[in-house]
Amino acid sequence: MSLFSSVEMAPRDPILGLNEQYAADTNPSKVNLGVGVYFDDNGKLPLLQCVQAAEKAMMDKPTPRGYLPIDGIVAYDNAVKALVFGADSEVVTSGRVATVQAVGGTGGLKIGADFLKRLNPQAKVLISDPSWENHRAIFQNAGFEVGNYRYYDAANRAIDFDGMIADLNAAAAGTVAVLHACCHNPTGYDITAAQWDKVVEVVKAKNLVAFLDMAYQGFGHGIAEDGAVIGKFIAAGLNIFVSTSFSKSFSLYGERVGALSVVASDKEEASRVLSQLKVVIRTNYSNPPTHGGAVVAAVLNNPELRALWEKELGEMRVRIKEMRQKLVDGLKAAGVKQDMSFITTQIGMFSYSGLSKDQMVRLRSEFGVYGTDTGRMCVAALNSKNIEHVCASIAKVVA
Ligand code: PLP
Repeated sequence: MSLFSSVEMAPRDPILGLNEQYAADTNPSKVNLGVGVYFDDNGKLPLLQCVQAAEKAMMDKPTPRGYLPIDGIVAYDNAVKALVFGADSEVVTSGRVATVQAVGGTGGLKIGADFLKRLNPQAKVLISDPSWENHRAIFQNAGFEVGNYRYYDAANRAIDFDGMIADLNAAAAGTVAVLHACCHNPTGYDITAAQWDKVVEVVKAKNLVAFLDMAYQGFGHGIAEDGAVIGKFIAAGLNIFVSTSFSKSFSLYGERVGALSVVASDKEEASRVLSQLKVVIRTNYSNPPTHGGAVVAAVLNNPELRALWEKELGEMRVRIKEMRQKLVDGLKAAGVKQDMSFITTQIGMFSYSGLSKDQMVRLRSEFGVYGTDTGRMCVAALNSKNIEHVCASIAKVVA
């Protein structure tokens, strides 16, 4: 008998499964709207100019690759702090933020989850219903019981804000509330600034722990605008967790560049927290890789490259918005009777289209248009060449 004879096959990742199906599809007009990746108008993954410039400068002056400190490149961690909280913010200047470089935003979430489990083993975790699939898995694998707070209201194609607040209000003290800072994945619906104020109020009143997942800063309304929600929690005097990802905003998916920041009450507390985050990292993968962090730090810390990044990120953001409008217009032109203008009120990479599972299956099998069974489509993968086919296909399945 083999050591592994009792090993069961793990369920397939639904998105990766969709990718495999897409790759095998021979339909020449096939379109992949399943993945959470930004493509340019030619359907290509962009390699940003700012990244190329930073890499060229690094190549011109090659450096040896020693181990990084456990918490990563200092200049990178400082750049993340400045981006997320503001370089001149009190939390940063007083030294009460502990930031560690992480293996993508996923890594940031995982470090935070492991640390929280040691801090408060009895706590429960609440994620939005629905949420990015990995939220549940990451926190469950860290040993937490994971529940939902209401979020998407399918009947009204809106956010069930009263439900969200009621669920957060009913949570026990110490419950970890995982919140999408901007560009909610998968629905594309964000709560308003005034609604955030209410969430902050409940988190404070009920002694919850806010864990803000910021995987799309700059993809919604702008870098500062998307980051503004963090300031609301800080202004309320809360100790929060923020995970950051540069996968999308730098188009550096494969480099796995992210971070975790924990806001403590003072500098001394932050240094104790940092020491524990380092234990988590040390016992998982020792220290982070060099390249992606070095590129992002070089761009964020150089005024010219930083300006170029902001311009390129702005172009991605604007193109997504244009595609949303084209989708709405194209669906109307293709004969879709129902009002689809909700697509332009959504934000970020994704749109919950409101299409049923059966309609999504038909879109795939008959028209080669791939989205998830939940009706989620990645609008960042639409372009001037595929939009007509997508609109015509959706029109046929909703007719
Ligand atoms: N959080 C959310 C909401 C995401 O959508 C993603 C990626 O799709 C991540 C975190 C993970 O980001 P990364 O690829 O940097 O690990």
